[in-house]
Amino acid sequence: MESLHRAHALALLATLLAACATSPLGRSQLRLFPESTMDEMGAAAYAELQWETPHSRDAVADAYVRCVANAVVDALADSERRTEWEVTVFHDKAVNAFALPGGKIGVYTGLLEVARGQHQLAAVIGHEVGHVLASHANERVSQSWVVESGLGLAQVIVGAGSSANPQLFALLGLGAQVGVLLPFSRIQESEADWIGLDLMARAGFDPRASVSLWENMARAGGIAPPELLSTHPSSDTRIRDLQRRMAKAVLIQEAARSRGHDPHCS
Ligand SMILES: [Zn+2]
Repeated sequence: MESLHRAHALALLATLLAACATSPLGRSQLRLFPESTMDEMGAAAYAELQWETPHSRDAVADAYVRCVANAVVDALADSERRTEWEVTVFHDKAVNAFALPGGKIGVYTGLLEVARGQHQLAAVIGHEVGHVLASHANERVSQSWVVESGLGLAQVIVGAGSSANPQLFALLGLGAQVGVLLPFSRIQESEADWIGLDLMARAGFDPRASVSLWENMARAGGIAPPELLSTHPSSDTRIRDLQRRMAKAVLIQEAARSRGHDPHCS
């Protein structure tokens, strides 16, 4: 029995050593799962949400969100582009949005009340796509797998395509939608902020809108805080960190605009 445990531990250790990866900002990460597996999990969760949540029937809002999201993902470098991106606008008053591995974006109509104008909406979408580019879902699922010795979660992952699983959904970053709260960590939030800022600027959006977006988000608190904040907790340092990178981001935006990336989504 003892040696069996040791064999398991060694096998796990070998997997872990092989699974050390680096985020786009140079942080080492634990990623146990092939990206193709993560893409399948993302696609399965997305299909489930599309089945459960009514889609927007407001053609104008739909076209507006698509215009912004497409401009953001069109700015991805070839090396960052593994899949075609898909966008769904959900008719729901929740102030929320998400992006899943496998190139799946969801925006709730309630978000449009808080993310005002194309530049602020691009800031949200850039941030969400930033989580995907940095493989944060893989990292969260991997960490959880290790903590739980893989047993329960292995079943969850194997059954990913079959039915809604709150635990897996929460790990993918969809906590608020399924009532299991598992916020992104502070370091993951910073990475998504920085990647998103760069990405929105590359698309020609005004990166300064990211600051007003998070200010709006904080103000929209009150009795029912925006759902987005429950999975993407904000800290006092968020706006300061964004501002530290702003001068560079504005230069990136100016360069993008001079190359003709000047979106007009309304
Ligand atoms: Zn986030």
